[in-house]
Order: sequence, then C-alpha cells, then structure tokens
Amino acid sequence: MKHQNTLNIVDRTEHSWQQQLSGARRSFAELCTFLDLAEDSFDGVMKLEKQFPIIAPDPYLSRIVKGDPRDPLLLQVLPQAAELISTPGYSDDPLEEANASPVQGLIHKYHGRVLLVASAACAIHCRYCFRRHFPYQENRLQRNQHQQALDYMASNSDVQEVILSGGDPLTLSNSYLSWLIQAITELPQIHTLRIHTRLPIVIPDRVDEGLLELLPSRLKIVMVVHCNHANELDENVKATMEQLTSAGVTLLNQSVLLKGVNDDAAVLAQLSQRLFECGILPYYLHLLDPVQGAAHFDASEKKAGNLMAAVIKVLPGYLVPRLVRERPGAASKTPLPVVT
Ligand SMILES: *Cc1c(COP(=O)(O)O)cnc(C)c1O
Ligand code: SF4
Repeated sequence: MKHQNTLNIVDRTEHSWQQQLSGARRSFAELCTFLDLAEDSFDGVMKLEKQFPIIAPDPYLSRIVKGDPRDPLLLQVLPQAAELISTPGYSDDPLEEANASPVQGLIHKYHGRVLLVASAACAIHCRYCFRRHFPYQENRLQRNQHQQALDYMASNSDVQEVILSGGDPLTLSNSYLSWLIQAITELPQIHTLRIHTRLPIVIPDRVDEGLLELLPSRLKIVMVVHCNHANELDENVKATMEQLTSAGVTLLNQSVLLKGVNDDAAVLAQLSQRLFECGILPYYLHLLDPVQGAAHFDASEKKAGNLMAAVIKVLPGYLVPRLVRERPGAASKTPLPVVT
C-alpha cells in the first residue's frame, strides 16, 4: 500500500474550487501526462471515452502515485476497454429508479426520506458509477422543478429527512444551495438534511466560508462523503473534514467494494482507520450495482463476506461499515452476511 497522506499537498489558496473544477483533466492523454505514464502502459484502455467522459480534477490526481498504472485512485477514473463489454444481468438502470420517482428529480423509495437529484453534474467521473447511464440531461433541474419536489415534500408529512444527491449536489453554487436549503428548512416536519457528495474529497476547497455559513442551524446536517481508499484522504481533506466537524456536521462515509481498488482486508481496515483520523465514521460498504460497463470492478458476495470477516477481527465495531447491496423494490438497502 502506498500511503501518501503528507505528500503532494496542493496549494489551497492558488485557485478557487470553480477553477479547480473547470481545470479538471478530461482526456486519457492529459491523465497520462499529469501522472508520468506512458500511454502504451495500459493494456486495452479505451481511448475514446464518449459515453461517459473522463473528469478528474488535480487535487484528486495529486494523490495518485506517479508512474503506477495500477494505482487504486487512478483505476477509479481511468476508462477500461472492459467497459465496452456487455454483461448479462447488468443494465443501464440497475436500481429501477425510474419507478420510484413521483416528481421529476425526486426519488422516494424508503420510509421517511426522499432523495433529491439536486445537481446533474459531478466533479469527477467514477468509472464504477451506477448513475453512468442516468438521463441527467432530462433531469437537469431548474428552480421551478425543485419547487415541485419541495411541494411534494410539503404534502408528505412522513418525510422527515431530505437527501441531496445527484450527480454531486456541491457542484451547485452557494447561492443556489442557499435557496434550496432555506426552502427545505422552512418545511416544519423535516429534521435532517443529508448531503451525499464526493466533492469535499475530490476538491477540498469546495468547503469554503460561504458553504459553511449557509448550513442551517435548525436541521441536523449529515454529510456522507464517498471515499473508497485511504490514499484519497490527504492532509487537505483532513483539514476540510475538521472544518465541517467544527460546523456541527456529522460525517459518514460510504464506499463501493471495487476489485483492484479496495477488495483487500488490509486496505479496507486502513480506510476505516484513516476515515476515523479525519473525523468520519464508516457507514456503508456497497456491493457494486450491476450497471452495464462496470462488471470488471465486481467482487462477489462471497468474497465480500470473507473480507468483512477478516475486517471485523481487526477493527473496533464502530469502524466496521455495514456491508449492503441495493435490490430494486426492497424497502431498504439489503444487509449481506459476514462470513466467519
Ligand atoms: C440509499 C438511498 C437512501 C438512503 O438510505 P439509507 O439507508 O438511509 O442511507 C434514500 N433514498 C434512496 C433513493 C436511496 O437510494
Ligand atoms: S454520482 Fe458519485 S460515484 Fe457517480 S460519477 Fe458522480 S461522484 Fe462519482
């Protein structure tokens, strides 16, 4: 394992988060140049990434070990020829979310909580993403559509938690977020606002003064960061997490079990420990959703159970994530057995 928490710290004052986002690397050639990799060191890498383009911002790329084509952070953003292979049992909408959307951009699958597709955009394109075929253009929400989602929440008094998701909700501007969060805060039955985001990890500067100031005081705020490997958590990320903790935000992590990235008991244990150093508790470890184009990342349920059996032997209980899989139509995420 190449742990490099203190290396390659990006100067945090040099560029705004918007500049860091617009300056993200968007081609295979750019990735290779940035990482000192020969383009021919990749066997069968797909160079034409039309369907789901590369997006990888520099603060994230700075944590990759230069010259290593198998780096676990690189594998999360690097297109593979295997993405083009059609795999039986894998689909474009593996969670059948289209069925659980009462108004555009809102998914109400589970009791008491609704998920709002707050933004269509992401700051990074993760090759394993289950939303890679999501019709974001159709779901690109404007204020009036968010208003319809807010009206739905207002008329469903059992909804007590709103989850901002996407895409990545923190790609929205602070002023837009401020409007949206204010409107949610005004719904009296809502007591928790949850934000599912990869941005504080990918571009830590996204957590700026303006964002910290707009977090409301009435609601409990939970932020679920999406981190798959300890190397993602450098000192800049840690400092950002400390700011969020100081602002009263509860920090949780969800990971996806990814072959070649984190399908190893020592890697998973180290991830949990590093999360804890950053003030984040592990929440879920998801099995890969069977999305077409991501089958090369899949680890079996049996392998996952065996890994967790090893992980629970070396970690305190509060650092063990729940192993789950998402099944279409189920009333919650489905817990999976830990084999001992
Ligand atoms: C995962 C998910 C949630 C949240 O589930 P928790 O178990 O509370 O984390 C809510 N809505 C949808 C549509 C989801 O996919
Ligand atoms: S939705 Fe999340 S996992 Fe998917 S590409 Fe965006 S940041 Fe990555």
